[in-house]
Amino acid sequence: MAVARTASGSIPGPAGATLKNLGGPETGTVKAGPTDPATVIPPIASRFVAGEDAATALDHVASINDDGVAGILNLLGEHYDDRAAAAADRDAYLELIDDITATGVDACISVKPSQIGLDVGESVFRENFAQIVEAAADQDVFVWLDMEDHTTTDATLDAFEAETTAYDGGVGVCVQANLRRTSEDLERLAALPGKVRLVKGAYDPPADIAFRNKERVNTAYKNDLAYMFEHFDDGIAVGSHDPEMIDRARTLHTEHGTDYEIQMLMGVREDAQRRFAAEVPVYQYVPYGGKWLSYFYRRVLERKENLVFALRAVLGR
Ligand code: FAD
Repeated sequence: MAVARTASGSIPGPAGATLKNLGGPETGTVKAGPTDPATVIPPIASRFVAGEDAATALDHVASINDDGVAGILNLLGEHYDDRAAAAADRDAYLELIDDITATGVDACISVKPSQIGLDVGESVFRENFAQIVEAAADQDVFVWLDMEDHTTTDATLDAFEAETTAYDGGVGVCVQANLRRTSEDLERLAALPGKVRLVKGAYDPPADIAFRNKERVNTAYKNDLAYMFEHFDDGIAVGSHDPEMIDRARTLHTEHGTDYEIQMLMGVREDAQRRFAAEVPVYQYVPYGGKWLSYFYRRVLERKENLVFALRAVLGR
């Protein structure tokens, strides 16, 4: 799909506005990422990060839409301890919602709680999130809440519950199979409208509250999937690249008939994403923005082959 552009090459926004760099000033506590929103994404990270601004990310989404894959746009940023930084990213998401509508791409958004104020205060996060969901609901854009480390689980689920109840859906939340509490959280979520994305978990929680062994996490993931296919009505997102988990979801769908979608990250198994899109909705998580370093670091920690892929991109092969 071709994204409509203005004569200057920018994607037109509503009322003739054009997309600018939406990175916003970095005044938060994360020191790992570059601080200049104009920072160019280096080749080593460009496999996993769409670009430095929303216009580039929307272009990427338009190109994956051509292959039947929808986008989940995420402006990179987390752990702001400053109200103004959280408000800047909230505003960037409000503009992004307009841009999704204006360009007509098939995309939703995914937001991190600590990006929109959770580290400043739960009420700040709740207010900013409510504004994003209200604007998105007006334009029929779906909003996901990413799940961060285990200290944020309650606040994230509470915010999800408030908004998904208020709007009767249109909102989704991510839960992590490596947390022991997740099977109980799923019982609470089954009674709510909205979608739930199940992932293995990208953080490193302590052993008393989490499964640390990879096989144990895989078992928990499969058990959680089984529960979701049996008890959820409003949509399940399988957030995994793991062929075993995807096969399990396919089997459970045949058994229970419950709708599901597959979600994968930009730069990971993109051939499989295109293939699966012929049978089930597939969403690609598309991060963008100048603060790419901590995101890239997480992908490399997750799987060292990701570094090899990235190095190949640098070497041009
Ligand atoms: P892994 O256990 O990493 O790998 C299992 C198998 O999958 C591998 O053996 C291989 O066969 C295949 N595979 C994995 N990676 C590759 C690759 N690069 N190339 C080829 N094959 C591969 N985590 C959070 O904590 N919070 C979130 O909000 C969150 N959101 C996410 C959203 C999406 C859309 C996705 C896909 C993941 C998200 N994650 C999130 C990350 C998640 O928790 C895992 O850390 C990450 O997905 C790795 O686990 P996995 O299930 O993909 O498989």
